[in-house]
Amino acid sequence: MKLLLVEDEKRMAQALCQILRLEQYDVDWCGDGTAGMSAVETGIYDLIVLDVMLPGCSGFEIARRARQAGIKTPILMLTAKGEVEDKVTGLDSGADDYLTKPFMIQELLARLRALSRRNLPSPDGSLSFGDIVLEPHTALLRCRTTGQSVRLGEKEYRILEYLIANQGQVLTREQFAVKIWGFDSDAEYNNVEVYMSFTRRKLAFVGAKTEIKAIRGIGYELRCGDV
Ligand code: CA
Repeated sequence: MKLLLVEDEKRMAQALCQILRLEQYDVDWCGDGTAGMSAVETGIYDLIVLDVMLPGCSGFEIARRARQAGIKTPILMLTAKGEVEDKVTGLDSGADDYLTKPFMIQELLARLRALSRRNLPSPDGSLSFGDIVLEPHTALLRCRTTGQSVRLGEKEYRILEYLIANQGQVLTREQFAVKIWGFDSDAEYNNVEVYMSFTRRKLAFVGAKTEIKAIRGIGYELRCGDV
């Protein structure tokens, strides 16, 4: 699970990064608001932990702009004790939860677990969109109307999972490269295109009306067809 931490207090950020990595989060850290804003805008994160008082751009501003841009990633806001108004402002700006500093690390971890569960749309963990269902334990892609299914490769599964989690949005090649291959480079862009075509073939194989639309010059979007 990719987590972005935006926190300008270096010692606190380092301590948090260390703990979060032990908890198996794949953590990126930004030490100011401007870098934080750019990182949030990539849309590649599953969770965002946002300090309020930041040089460059406040946490409120980052959350507000992220929501305006259609980024739905759960945001946990951190703020200093006594800033009573902050909770309301934080939630108004688009944060999903809020924690007052100083906090117990166990509480932070519990809140993060709760927020990450929000990303799972059904109790058995399956993901669905249009006429397709993705089953995480078996990596099966199933079409609800034809009843056909096929096993997906790891990258194909992650491509569809990422598209379903961001339905209604166009995702760029760069976002896929960073999210699925870990970084962006020309080689990874080619991989994105190759695996996108494999994934399309699997959708066609099960007879799904759901398709991956290429939006010229921008990226890819999952579309329902006439289901
Ligand atoms: Ca701060």
